[in-house]
Amino acid sequence: MNEKKILIVRCGEVALKGMNKPYFERMLAERIGKRLAASGFGEAEVQRHEGLIYVRFDRGWDEIAVAREIAKVFGVASISPAVEAESDLTAIGQAAVGFMLDLIEKRGIHTFKVEAKRADKDFPVKSPEIARRVGAMVLIGCKVLAVDVHEPDARLFVDVRHDRSFIYTDKISGFGGLPLGTNGKGLVLLSGGIDSPVAAWMMAKRGMMIEAVHFHSYPYTSERAQQKVEELARIVASYCGNFRMHVINLLPVQEQIVMHCPEAETTIHVRRFMMRIAERVARETGCMMLITGENLGQVASQTAEAFVVTDHVVEMPVMRPLIALDKVDIIEKAQEIGTFEKSIEPYEDCCTVFLPKHPTTKPKLERIEKSEEALDVEALVSACVASREIVEIKA
Ligand code: ATP
Ligand code: MG
Repeated sequence: MNEKKILIVRCGEVALKGMNKPYFERMLAERIGKRLAASGFGEAEVQRHEGLIYVRFDRGWDEIAVAREIAKVFGVASISPAVEAESDLTAIGQAAVGFMLDLIEKRGIHTFKVEAKRADKDFPVKSPEIARRVGAMVLIGCKVLAVDVHEPDARLFVDVRHDRSFIYTDKISGFGGLPLGTNGKGLVLLSGGIDSPVAAWMMAKRGMMIEAVHFHSYPYTSERAQQKVEELARIVASYCGNFRMHVINLLPVQEQIVMHCPEAETTIHVRRFMMRIAERVARETGCMMLITGENLGQVASQTAEAFVVTDHVVEMPVMRPLIALDKVDIIEKAQEIGTFEKSIEPYEDCCTVFLPKHPTTKPKLERIEKSEEALDVEALVSACVASREIVEIKA
């Protein structure tokens, strides 16, 4: 029974979904399979059973490396490297001894405590008694160990199920959330900055598939800047799955705005165009909402008044998952998911081209609409949408 290594994967909120539970679990198992295939562990077996997911693979593989990939899958609450045994006390005891000998060698532990759980209520021995007996066998089999029920070096969990039992000690945390593909598709406005990759990640964590749009102002922004965004997008794709990125040159729009509208309003006009173009792309690609990395009060274009004026040009819901976070918290998240280092590499963003010296922070809708009359909005939007390039982002 023991030729393969096994990881026990616990589903987070997926387990709470009542009638939809099998659907969510199936989606999660599928996502785990895809993640493993994408990271070179495609030969692992993924199996669902009684609300848990078991991943079995070759003994030669590093289980922590496999677990790390699984931890990136949304919907996973935690993962434990385990050993399995038949649901029989002697077999469980032997497996527990082997497991602990390994742990002594790897970590030099001195004390332990057994915690047992009986999912199979027909099992003839009750949980405290299972713990006591397995503990006794471990003491005999691992002479260097002593029991410490208060602060053990290792907690040995014994999970007794109907046909087999599992023995493990550590839990590696996942991110929780819901499996990708269970909550529609959104179009993220992806810059090269810190915020928008985190925003995409947060929506994807709730099960939303993503597609992206990126604006540049070539030749004011460089090809290197675009390369950087693609690299950033690939990090995002390692969580959100492979996606398409629509790359659009916004320069023709910016030039018109600079030529015809008051300087202080430049940013707000640019943002209105970004939203319009993004919405058009979203409709063409089956995205039902837009996602941005905006955050209340962070910069001049992100005041309450500015949001009202930008949202006025689109009908789709605009998701701003970072809206109420502080910058330090966004940075912490970016570090945790591994986008931060890439985001802070120097680059030019199209928003910094033609940046006004004194941007309007409290734009008035009528005022902005009035100055926009000088532009052929429809023609500009259509031209941008038509000239976009599509890049396939693969993790
Ligand atoms: P970020 O760190 O995500 O760039 P920011 O704090 O720098 O955000 P802005 O530059 O004002 O803020 O941009 C606000 C949001 O607008 C971004 O989070 C992103 O969703 C979108 N955005 C900005 N620039 C671009 C761009 N060049 N391409 C696509 N979307 C963009
Ligand atoms: Mg930015």
